[in-house]
Amino acid sequence: MLALVKVAPGPGLELRDVPEPVIGINDVLVKVRRTGICGTDLHIAAWDAWAARTIVPPLVVGHEFVGQVVAVGSNVVDFRPGDLVSGEGHVVCGRCRHCLAGRRHLCANTIGLGVGRDGAFAEYVALPMTNVWHHWPGIDEEVAAIFDPFGNAVHTALAFPVLGEDVLVSGAGPIGLMATAVVRHAGARFVVVSEPNPARRAIALRMGATVAVDPRERDLREAGRELGMVEGYDVALEMSGNPAALRAAITAMAHGGGVAILGIPTEEIALDVNEIVFKMLTLRGIYGREMYETWYKMTVMLQSGLDIAPAITHRFSFHDHEAAFAAARSGDVGKVIMDWTA
Ligand code: NAD
Ligand code: ZN
Repeated sequence: MLALVKVAPGPGLELRDVPEPVIGINDVLVKVRRTGICGTDLHIAAWDAWAARTIVPPLVVGHEFVGQVVAVGSNVVDFRPGDLVSGEGHVVCGRCRHCLAGRRHLCANTIGLGVGRDGAFAEYVALPMTNVWHHWPGIDEEVAAIFDPFGNAVHTALAFPVLGEDVLVSGAGPIGLMATAVVRHAGARFVVVSEPNPARRAIALRMGATVAVDPRERDLREAGRELGMVEGYDVALEMSGNPAALRAAITAMAHGGGVAILGIPTEEIALDVNEIVFKMLTLRGIYGREMYETWYKMTVMLQSGLDIAPAITHRFSFHDHEAAFAAARSGDVGKVIMDWTA
C-alpha cells in the first residue's frame, strides 16, 4: 500500500510503498478514505526537537481519518466490512488504575497513532476495536475525518459549563474554530475569539464568534466590556499555546472562572499566581478526548444542528501531500483534508 512515511531521522516525509498492516484477533483493518493534517504531523515532518526525541523511524504518520472497515479480527463482533468509522488516536493500556475505572483518557501509558505506532496517512490503517468509532450513514465524510481534533475542541469547550456564559477562545486554529461553534451550540452568550491572523478571524466569525479580535491591538477585557460583560469572561479556552495568550486570558477572567488549557506551549510560562488565587480561578489541562463520552457528544451535537464544516478550508489528493502540508504550514487556513480515494 502507499503511505506517507518518516523514513529516517531528519526533515521530510515520503510517499512509499509499504506492507499493509497485519491485524490481530482484536483489531479492525480500515481502508482510509480521508485524513486531516494536524500540527503534530507538521512537527514530525519538520523534525523539530519534540519529534527528534519522540519519533522512532520508520513510521507511517497521521491520526485524523475516516475510512471503511475491510477486515476484522476473530474476537471482533460489532464491526463489519463496509462500516464507516474513525479512530481514537490514543491507544491506552487497558490495565492501569484509570483504564480499569473507565477513565481511559487519563491513562499514563497512552500510545499515539501516527506517533508511537503506524498511523493513518496510508491506504490502510489498523487499530484495536476499542479505538474504533462508528459513524452514522450519511455523515459528511470530511467532518468524519476530523473527529479526532473535533474531539479536542469538544472536550475543551465542555470542560466548564458554558450555557449562558461569556467565553474567550484564544487561538483560532482548526481546533479553536471548531470550539467556537461548539460553545455557541452549547448556549454561550458572548464568544470572543482572540487571534492575530486575519484570515482565521474571518473564519471564526463564520463559526459563530460574536467578535474576533487581534490581541495585539485590542485589550480582551475592553472587548468584553464593549459587549456588556460586567466583570470578565466566565470561561476561557486556551487553544494557542502562546504564553501571552494564557496570561491575557487569566487577566481578563471574572471571579470564579474556568480556564481550559489545550494549547501546547513550547516554553515554560510564568503566571501571576496571585491573580489565579484572588480570582479563585480553576485552570484545567486537557489532553485528547474522553473515551467515549466526547465521541458521543460530537455525534449528537452534529445530529442536533452543530456545523463545523466551515472550519475545513482546503482539500488535496494524497498524491499532492507536499502542497497539502505547505497549506497547513502557512497558517492562513482552517483544516486541510487529504483524499485517499483518488
Ligand atoms: P494552530 O497552531 O493551527 O492554532 C493556534 C492559533 O493560535 C494560530 O492561529 C495562531 O495564530 C494563534 N495565536 C498565536 N498567538 C496568539 C495569541 N497571543 N493570542 C491568540 N491567538 C494566538 O493549532 P491547532 O491545530 O488549532 O491546535 C491548537 C493548540 O492545541 C496547539 O497549541 C496544539 O499544539 C494544541 N493541541 C493540543 C492537543 C491536546 O490534546 N492537548 C491536541 C491537539 C492540539
Ligand atoms: Zn491505562
